[in-house]
Amino acid sequence: MFIDFHTHIFPDKIADAAISELSQRCGSEPFADGKLNGLLSSMKEGGVDLSVVLPVVTSPRQFDSINRFAQSLNEVEGIVSFGGIHPECENIEEKLDFIKEIGLKGIKIHPDYQKTFIDDPKYVKIISHCIKIGLYVVTHSGLDVGYPDPIHCTPQRILNLLSLLPRHEEPRLILAHTGAFDMWDEVEEKLVGKNVYFDLAYCLDKISERQLMRIISNHGSDKILFATDSPWSGQKEFVEIFNSLPLNRQDKENISYKNALKILSLKNLKALKC
Ligand SMILES: [Zn+2]
Repeated sequence: MFIDFHTHIFPDKIADAAISELSQRCGSEPFADGKLNGLLSSMKEGGVDLSVVLPVVTSPRQFDSINRFAQSLNEVEGIVSFGGIHPECENIEEKLDFIKEIGLKGIKIHPDYQKTFIDDPKYVKIISHCIKIGLYVVTHSGLDVGYPDPIHCTPQRILNLLSLLPRHEEPRLILAHTGAFDMWDEVEEKLVGKNVYFDLAYCLDKISERQLMRIISNHGSDKILFATDSPWSGQKEFVEIFNSLPLNRQDKENISYKNALKILSLKNLKALKC
């Protein structure tokens, strides 16, 4: 069983334009068309049972439309969508309460697209309120090949952020791209073992197997999530790479779906159909 904790789709009307712009900027070819049906067929082909969609709010005025789109995706079998917020939004706490009220499990933030450092007081306020009301926060972390300079979310800035958040037992912060994309030595030095999840999005064909195995074993498989970043990586390809890793059964199950079921408060995938 596989849950892909990091995917992107756009409303059909804007998907072609959004995908072609992003693919030019990042210099990478998409593995799917960025639409709901494209994701559903990629899941079928790759053996992925559930995809978590992570929308990015790139300007404050997109807040309503993006979160309504997210809410509508939650009607679709096999899809769970997080919501999004922009650090320049007004009435941040009310907006996060609204996201919780419409049944979304968490939010996605992207410090590079949102041009705000992860340890900025605006993100501290957002993430602190999410912790208070029980929302998860996925953040892009490390290098974004399309927006390389400066990197707004580095391992050091995440450490600063963690020191500013209220105490919480259950990890609420999910760092995309195995802690910080293309900064994995620093991830090992500064973030491994901290009270955060790492997702594996976009990484499985880019990080060395040795380093990945070391990170999984030192961080703990109970805080790692299988993820692809579809359409920017292939679900089928990543399922194959993941299956070839020398992990024991328990670690494999934790990463491929058990941790995700816990975060999404689902007992099993049948619960989705309710
Ligand atoms: Zn992504």
